[in-house]
Amino acid sequence: MRHTESLALHERSTGRRCDGLGSGRLVKTQPSPLRSTLRLMRDGEGQPDHQTQVAEAVQRYWGFDALRPLQAEAIAAGIAHRDSLVVMPTGGGKSLCYQVPPVIAGRMDLVVSPLISLMKDQVDGLLACGYPAACLHSGMDAAERRDAERQIRDKACRLVFVAPERLISEQFQSWIEPLGIRAIAVDEAHCISHWGHDFRPEYRRLAELRDRFPDMSMHAFTATATPRVRDDIVTQLRLENPVVMVGRFDRPNLVYRIVPRTDVSRQVLDVVRRHPREAIIVYCITRKETETLAAMLAGHGIQAASYHAGMEPHDRKTTQEAFSQERLDVVVATVAFGMGIDRSNVRCVIHAAMPKSVEHYQQETGRAGRDGLEAECILFYSAADFMRWENLLRKSAQETDDPDETIAPQLVLLRHMQRICSGLRCRHEALSDYFGQPYDTPDCGACDVCMGEVTGMTDGMVTAQKILSCVVRAGQRFGVGHIVDILTGANTEQIRSFGHDELSTYSLLDDMPSKVVQNLIYQLVDHGMLERTPGDRPILQLSSKGAEVLRGERDVRLREPMAPKAKRTVHDTQSWEGVDRELFERLRAVRRDIARKRSVPAYIVFGDATLRHMAQIKPDTLDAMRTVHGIGDRKLAAFGQAFLDAVTIYLHEHNAF
Ligand code: ADP
Ligand code: ZN
Repeated sequence: MRHTESLALHERSTGRRCDGLGSGRLVKTQPSPLRSTLRLMRDGEGQPDHQTQVAEAVQRYWGFDALRPLQAEAIAAGIAHRDSLVVMPTGGGKSLCYQVPPVIAGRMDLVVSPLISLMKDQVDGLLACGYPAACLHSGMDAAERRDAERQIRDKACRLVFVAPERLISEQFQSWIEPLGIRAIAVDEAHCISHWGHDFRPEYRRLAELRDRFPDMSMHAFTATATPRVRDDIVTQLRLENPVVMVGRFDRPNLVYRIVPRTDVSRQVLDVVRRHPREAIIVYCITRKETETLAAMLAGHGIQAASYHAGMEPHDRKTTQEAFSQERLDVVVATVAFGMGIDRSNVRCVIHAAMPKSVEHYQQETGRAGRDGLEAECILFYSAADFMRWENLLRKSAQETDDPDETIAPQLVLLRHMQRICSGLRCRHEALSDYFGQPYDTPDCGACDVCMGEVTGMTDGMVTAQKILSCVVRAGQRFGVGHIVDILTGANTEQIRSFGHDELSTYSLLDDMPSKVVQNLIYQLVDHGMLERTPGDRPILQLSSKGAEVLRGERDVRLREPMAPKAKRTVHDTQSWEGVDRELFERLRAVRRDIARKRSVPAYIVFGDATLRHMAQIKPDTLDAMRTVHGIGDRKLAAFGQAFLDAVTIYLHEHNAF
């Protein structure tokens, strides 16, 4: 039996409104009234008050003191067998929403997950917390499989992770039939939608489970925000009167910066040096760029490797593992480095160029700071990026019947991204706005605009006029490179042969590096003062707006390309308050050792938030160790002593006893 009545009551009592998803309901995302939610969602299975049990389980297994927004509601839906869809940004804490219900309800639930690596990491992570879980996938050998099957048959686990293709097979379904499974969580549920970015046809067939197991509730989870994908999930999975919970898409712990690109190698190196020995992902457009930048960083003594779809699967796996075990700091990658990155302490995501949509940007920056601690997201932007993407899109659409029509929707996405890059609005606000959520904080304190790092050029108008006038004087027949050469006073064959060293604009901007002048020209293109002709050898021409600037009839604001030094944010300062950094580094080394010995990602041992807390309170007994954030019973037993020893030795060395 489904328990819809108690939920209907809950909906009325909290004033939820329909969000246009037919039967779906939208839950607002204020901190949850945990007690009332759980009381109202009592599922009739004999548990009068789940709140204490949930809190106790979360503390015992994971060592967390509180639930995050929406987790309580999502857990309650799971316990009550109410179909649900949870949309939360990456790092929002979706996993806990399906991990807790089977513990409270004394059940064994299924989880569908699209990637073997995701499954393995989840199970490893759960086992490390003492949570009984198993998985079944094609990468297991016969003995491992037998062992897992036995555990499942004995109902010795709370969660069983399976791949979608297995779950839809008749054989598997007959096998699980006698187990009486009552709930299934569909992770990365956007894979069901053509409109998502990782469409998986097998996901489409998951709805067949509804016919075979009519008593089983379905709980879908995704980070993809668009209403179209949400709609698709509800329809395709045939969710029945689901409760739809949409979290806030803003990630307050991310600091966004969008900086004019002048010298990308230099700029990337500077940022990487700002984060010594921390995890960083650098995103590039092409494979070649990933290799060049990785080699450049390695040449400066930084542990960096490239990652792209053209590499051998074995090499990709090696890189990914080294990164997750903290043996590698920087991965320079194309978009191919995506789902399955499990390192929760990525402290910086750098975009060497503009991504092709805001959705991509959100996904990629979403890999930063999953542990909730501060992380920096910096994008090096030039208006040239737009044209580059446009060319790439056109090339890939060449074979289609109507290339213009094919790329039209992609150009719209591209323009949205470009508007955010060239605009001067708070980045948090602009992103929230794009995803249809209001952002009410007047000063986010965590973006380049609000922190006052975006400065206009003091003599922007004059500089713009110099550039525009140069384009006109050269006859509007040349591309960006040549105009830069004239303005910076280059002595090239081409300059001499055209007699351009005689122009009055020759060497007018010779006090600026040529890459800076180039960036300024692209800014003028962005503002519509200059136009670039289409084709392989685009030339610059003055637009009517540009002519007005030249005549002094229109103002133009150029952004200072030489960005001031990045500031530290209040958030960052607070999260390090009282933390002994030297001890923190020691504890990281202990973590690295344990992770390597056990061949697991470092975060499975402990997250950064746990190590910072430990390096702050410096526990000197196991009891004190248990009070550290993120240490549950099992992890205390498994790792407590090793970390306690490290703290003790450190305290001795510093005569703190
Ligand atoms: P998602 O699947 O939504 O991307 P995860 O479930 O992986 O996010 O959770 C992200 C991080 O947040 C993990 O490190 C997890 O342990 C942590 N986390 C989840 N819930 C809580 C909580 N209630 N309190 C503290 N940390 C939490
Ligand atoms: Zn801001």
